[in-house]
Amino acid sequence: MADTALITRLDNRLEQLVNIDMGERGVEHLFEAARALEGRSLVGAAADALMAVPEGGTVVLTTGSVSRAWITPDLGENDGPSGAAAIARALVLARNVTCVMLCEETLLPAIQNTCQAAGLFPVTVEQAAIAKADKSLATIVMLPYATDDADGKAQAETLLAKLNPDLLFSTERVGRNEFGVYHSMRGIDYGMGRARVDFLFDLALERGIPVVAVGDGGNEIGMGKVADHVKAHVPYGDTCQCGCGGGIGAVTGCDVLVTAACSNWGCTAIAAAMAARAGNAKLLHTPNRETLLLDTMVSNGLINSTHGIVDDSVDGFPRQSHVAVAELCRTIVSRAL
Ligand SMILES: [Zn+2]
Repeated sequence: MADTALITRLDNRLEQLVNIDMGERGVEHLFEAARALEGRSLVGAAADALMAVPEGGTVVLTTGSVSRAWITPDLGENDGPSGAAAIARALVLARNVTCVMLCEETLLPAIQNTCQAAGLFPVTVEQAAIAKADKSLATIVMLPYATDDADGKAQAETLLAKLNPDLLFSTERVGRNEFGVYHSMRGIDYGMGRARVDFLFDLALERGIPVVAVGDGGNEIGMGKVADHVKAHVPYGDTCQCGCGGGIGAVTGCDVLVTAACSNWGCTAIAAAMAARAGNAKLLHTPNRETLLLDTMVSNGLINSTHGIVDDSVDGFPRQSHVAVAELCRTIVSRAL
């Protein structure tokens, strides 16, 4: 049984590490705002929510960003998928949860392969139920999500009815602004070919289903919780470049918001906090697995969106920085393992 005071100290150290604003995006402002609202560690609150999912429950996750939508819907970015895969893996190992990952049909193969590299074999909902019952296989269910508003709203209703999830988790998934436009960090409308998963999250929040969200910029699902601060502190937070009349901030909020300088780092920190709570090192997102996922994302054509090239930098941060964050998160929680 973990010492509560120790866990709190570790939570605080984890979130300090991943909120150092190395990318100069203004994330420190968003962190302070979210932290003030939460009244305690964001990473700790997220880990508590994830560990509170009932044994054998169901969690819906989403990630994936069509990176150059005006060129092709087939290209996704490499911030998001590895973090989401790390969280899904930790949930499966900690709580024997069925994880259902939603993304665009165009990005599904790359995100599926990233999850598989994290140890999760892709199966149908029905197959996942068999695997859950006899605990014989760590699985992931991949489902495509609609890319237009009307179908996105309709699918939200049918999916919640079918899956009855215990929690929804989003990382690095762009949400619409108050005028229904999906913006890049440069304030450009890049909603074409993009899944309208934010409508599902709105409906879940309406129904009181817990929502945990990770973001690094202000345009992601969850950032509606700190909308005023996105407007005030993020470039194009107030006024975009597309002429819609709004800023890039997403309207969709969440229950627990985790900010980070890179969304994948936020997920690495949450997985470490889950490992500390369980006293189980298997829940960690390790440096070795991070290297494996970085390589998998390159081989699946996921792009380093800052530099506009497929390589193993994420958000412009070089490979070794991601491996180092995984190592430092592991070091921080090692006292609890
Ligand atoms: Zn706009």
